[in-house]
Amino acid sequence: MGRPLGQHFLFQASILERIAAAACPPGTPLCIEIGPGPGGLTRCLLPRCNHLVAVEIDPALAAALRAEFTSEPRFELVQADVLATNLGRWGPAAICGNLPYYITSPIIDQVLSLPPGTLTQAVFLVQREVAGRLAAQPGSRDYGYLTVATQARCRVERLFTVKPSSFRPPPKVDSAVVRLTPHLQPLVPDLPAFLKFASACFRQKRKTLRNNLMGVYDKARVEALPEAGLRAEQLSISQLIALHRSV
Ligand code: SAM
Repeated sequence: MGRPLGQHFLFQASILERIAAAACPPGTPLCIEIGPGPGGLTRCLLPRCNHLVAVEIDPALAAALRAEFTSEPRFELVQADVLATNLGRWGPAAICGNLPYYITSPIIDQVLSLPPGTLTQAVFLVQREVAGRLAAQPGSRDYGYLTVATQARCRVERLFTVKPSSFRPPPKVDSAVVRLTPHLQPLVPDLPAFLKFASACFRQKRKTLRNNLMGVYDKARVEALPEAGLRAEQLSISQLIALHRSV
């Protein structure tokens, strides 16, 4: 993509409205926007929520937004790196943003790692290829560690695609809007241990679970798995969770 800080700004009004409507259902008490940039999405979000916090790293863009909304008590601008910001500190929030693509995965991980009850839902504009991986089904080319690490914590919906011509400057690839809704009940009791297991399972995608897990988990237990000869991409999240229990 090549832009410093992933600065591809969305200007098409109908797309901005659609994202805001998906991110902020009427009466949303608190919305956090990641990377507001020049504020196209910000202006659509503000009328829909009681409190809008916008986290922007670029000092010039942050100063312009602060000046524009100076008399708006519902608006709060935080000039900071989102990855160094505690997004849970304002309480339960809907989180949204046209994400800077160079840190999409760390932001998604940060948001999904918020304490239970802190995230109501997240609506993000991401590269279309990333949206495909987030929402992938077992057995598909896109299904991998990112899919499992995401779907273990939330339900993923692909909402719609956005063409490069909706941005200035246009990125080289299509984008897509996804909604992430945390599971009400955790699917996995020990998430860090499961993520470590999932990462080992997908270490070399074309290799069998036996090959990927040997050396990391007990050899006899791995050999005893009926699925040892399968590849991780062939197993659903619930099968991987059950497998993790057995090793
Ligand atoms: N929301 C705007 C829009 O839709 O036009 C801008 C989206 S642009 C793809 C990404 C924005 O994230 C930019 O404004 C960029 O400065 C900001 N950004 C990049 N890295 C960031 C970081 N680490 N923390 C906070 N904001 C960041």
